[in-house]
Amino acid sequence: MRFDNQVALVTGAGSGLGRAYAIMLAERGAKLVLVDQAKGSSSQGEVLRATSSSNLTHATNAELQQTHQAILKLGGECLYFEVDVSQQDDVKSMVNRLQQDWQRVDILINNAGVYGACSFEHIQQADWQRQFDVDVNGSFYLTQALWPLMKAHGYGRILMTTGVSALFGDLHQVPFSAAKMALVGMVNSLSLEGEQYNIHINSLCPQALTAMTDKHLAPAIQPLFSFDTVTATMAFLVSRAAPNGQHLLAGAGSVSHGMFAEFQSI
Ligand code: ADP
Repeated sequence: MRFDNQVALVTGAGSGLGRAYAIMLAERGAKLVLVDQAKGSSSQGEVLRATSSSNLTHATNAELQQTHQAILKLGGECLYFEVDVSQQDDVKSMVNRLQQDWQRVDILINNAGVYGACSFEHIQQADWQRQFDVDVNGSFYLTQALWPLMKAHGYGRILMTTGVSALFGDLHQVPFSAAKMALVGMVNSLSLEGEQYNIHINSLCPQALTAMTDKHLAPAIQPLFSFDTVTATMAFLVSRAAPNGQHLLAGAGSVSHGMFAEFQSI
């Protein structure tokens, strides 16, 4: 499966799945737009952009820079943006600037997200809000900003990273599950609208433990599926052959309902 001459934008490209997605697409010929948040105060509110590492002197996100370097090493073309996806004006300004370099985006992967495990009665309003601001609003802002480009081009593939916790529930995951379920709803309705423009929208529920979940869960729990399985599923879902309006678990087999249920003590 090749993506030559296609432009792919991946959010949350600084770590975990986002980085794996970006590198895999670059290996398969895509030009990449890497997006992650600033990790220091110096560039807050500023949309950093770079085509090579030489003009990244104000960059604050070392992990995103590593993804950028890895892609440049592969010989791939790559734009770099430090943007908080929950800020609609910054997202719009990034899309304007990226259009100056590349006139279109073929693939959008809404993967930036936050994660926290908490018993229901202790959930803070700010944490609930942030979950929705990043996962749901961020995906909405990116998708809406790129929609006219995809429509005009007559082609688009949009993928949301959702989660097994959303579809089946997991202990102490109420904000995460609720936000990811909102994305499932967005996929279901938007895919109906996208069909006529050849824009396909799907979601991927990774059944692998990722950097995000590893931070919170005991090492005793082994990944159900490897990153390779997840990235291969991703490639299919953003390819020309992609279905529309589907939610795929990354790998076959049964879902581990309550995968995190051992963590009663959180
Ligand atoms: P996973 O292990 O599932 O890939 P990670 O926590 O490793 O999850 O990755 C999530 C990515 O999303 C991180 O790189 C993080 O910096 C990014 N991210 C989180 N919030 C935002 C935001 N508001 N804007 C842009 N990127 C974000």
